Amino acid sequence: MNKNKNTTTNIQNTVVEQIKHIGDDPQREGLLDTPKRVAKMYPIIFGGYTQNVEELFTVFSAKSYDGIVLLKDIELYSMCEHHMLPFFGKAHIAYIPNEKVIGVSKLARILNVYSKRLQIQERIGEQVTDAIMEHLQPLGVACIIEATHMCMRMRGVEKQNSVMVTSSMRGVFRTDAVARQELLSLIHS
Ligand code: ZN
Repeated sequence: MNKNKNTTTNIQNTVVEQIKHIGDDPQREGLLDTPKRVAKMYPIIFGGYTQNVEELFTVFSAKSYDGIVLLKDIELYSMCEHHMLPFFGKAHIAYIPNEKVIGVSKLARILNVYSKRLQIQERIGEQVTDAIMEHLQPLGVACIIEATHMCMRMRGVEKQNSVMVTSSMRGVFRTDAVARQELLSLIHS
């Protein structure tokens, strides 16, 4: 997201208007600094727009390893693009290397690039798996996300405790039931 002064002023003005539309008074004490706080927060929660995923692919050679690399229970925070309300939960990202690996913390950072935007849960998983497929050429890659959507909870349109699960799989995780089964048992172990 653009962080220049113009953008900051525009966000602040928009928030003032929003408060008025909601039916509150932007001049009352508790709300006076809210536009400033929101403008300061946006580049953080929408930081994915200014990050380049390619920079995260510092690749190492790992010719002898052909098992599953899994980073599980990665914290996920994103904003639903339909309602601009948070959805959050955890993601599990796995791949089977084809001679190339990346530092495991990079998997969490790749997730951040795509989650810190206006998003839908399905697309985050697709973008994560596509990026890893493109830059690492692994034998397979998977991104499973379990998330709670505030737009469902706050509007009361779904069961209050429902969790949405999406699963994006590429390569052997899609074609080979044994590989997929091993992944799922690792995630749930
Ligand atoms: Zn929504």
